[in-house]
Amino acid sequence: TWGRVCRDLEKTIGKNNYVTWIAPLEFHALENGVARFGVPTNFVGEWVKRNFGDRIVEHLVRNGVVVDRLEFAVSGAKASVAAATRPAPQPEARSDVDLPGATLDARFTFETFVTGKPNELAHAAARRVAEGGAVTFNPLFLYGGVGLGKTHLMHAIAWELRERVPEAKVVYLSAEQFMYRFVQALRERDMMGFKSLFRSVDVLMVDDVQFIAGKDSTQEEFFHTFNALVDQGKQIVISADRAPGEIKDLEDRIKSRLQCGLVVDLHPTDYELRLGILQQKVDMYRQQYPGLVISDGVLEFLAHRITTNVRVLEGALTRLFAFASLVGKEITLDLAQDCLADILRASERKVTVEEIQRKVSEHFNMRLADMVGPKRHRTIARPRQIAMWLAKQLTQRSLPEIGRRFGGRDHTTVMHAVKRIEELRATDSQIAEDLEMLRRTLEG
Ligand code: ADP
Ligand code: MG
Repeated sequence: TWGRVCRDLEKTIGKNNYVTWIAPLEFHALENGVARFGVPTNFVGEWVKRNFGDRIVEHLVRNGVVVDRLEFAVSGAKASVAAATRPAPQPEARSDVDLPGATLDARFTFETFVTGKPNELAHAAARRVAEGGAVTFNPLFLYGGVGLGKTHLMHAIAWELRERVPEAKVVYLSAEQFMYRFVQALRERDMMGFKSLFRSVDVLMVDDVQFIAGKDSTQEEFFHTFNALVDQGKQIVISADRAPGEIKDLEDRIKSRLQCGLVVDLHPTDYELRLGILQQKVDMYRQQYPGLVISDGVLEFLAHRITTNVRVLEGALTRLFAFASLVGKEITLDLAQDCLADILRASERKVTVEEIQRKVSEHFNMRLADMVGPKRHRTIARPRQIAMWLAKQLTQRSLPEIGRRFGGRDHTTVMHAVKRIEELRATDSQIAEDLEMLRRTLEG
């Protein structure tokens, strides 16, 4: 039922609100008219209660759930980040024109695409295709990890071409939509229609082509469409999450076809690119939230800390602006840290027990092997205890797991070490200093 309620909510509150606020909720239980949800932070819970509470209740009731109150508790879930990284649902296929493409996102243009070292090649290639001149490389194959701008670039090409060459039939769709079209044509026994439709386009762009891997008849049809268009000298643009050769369960003949043109990758973003993207988004938000002030250093902080993907970065900024505009506050570093605690936590660099052992043994000038070895002399045992304490503080490992990584020691040994170091930290300033320093270097 919650799934159904979610879909209804998405329709009434809009996709952006949905992704930012509702998707992170975990439905836990329903008791005595109280619906309980897990939320990533208190902030998300309060916001949802205040802004969407009534509507959630309303939709639950409409779906036959007896409920009159909502309760939110922090569950430590990283769901909001998962939601922020989840690909946006594909827009509906255009019904007004009899082209088989999807609607284009108005925000995804060349004007809004920020370039930097990691994406300049992909950007230049996309620009070239968008000029609409003679086909110089076919296909253009763009690949890279999630949220690095593949879809954005493809939409930008389509927008630009529509403007420059309005008579050209430009079709953009996801590989998934291609498959649905194909299956539908099979079901309706209209393969002729399908073939003539796809073979009549001037520019074909297929997004996330890895989707058709392992789907044999769709691959086959894709291959024929591809060849027919290339033979006619029509431009093709393809994207995928990895290089053609690395897509598993994709036929070899398709792989080699995909490699025939220009293959360019979008590299993971670097600090400057992230900062540039943030600055650009802030300029856009300024129109939506005039008068909102953002303190120096906040964007730098975000660009430094959220390195996973651009979609998460954007999600963080959206939430920050929404919150700041609600409470009418300036966006300060403190506010950002509070409001984005869950996202920041999920983006933290993960420290391993092995790394801790290495750093600590370097720091105390002892052999790494002694970390996990049997020696019990103080000069070795104490650093070992310190490493255990750090492992407890900086990793998600349980006491038994930590013990195992220290040469198979018992969890009570680890517990004792953690306690001992806690005591020393309060009484011995030298140890306190060592701990602080080690913690800082480990957390990078
Ligand atoms: P992909 O298709 O590679 O998973 P998207 O194209 O959907 O990624 O990009 C994810 C989000 O990040 C979009 O909102 C997009 O506008 C934004 N984005 C990614 N790269 C850039 C960039 N270089 N400049 C501006 N926005 C970007
Ligand atoms: Mg995409």
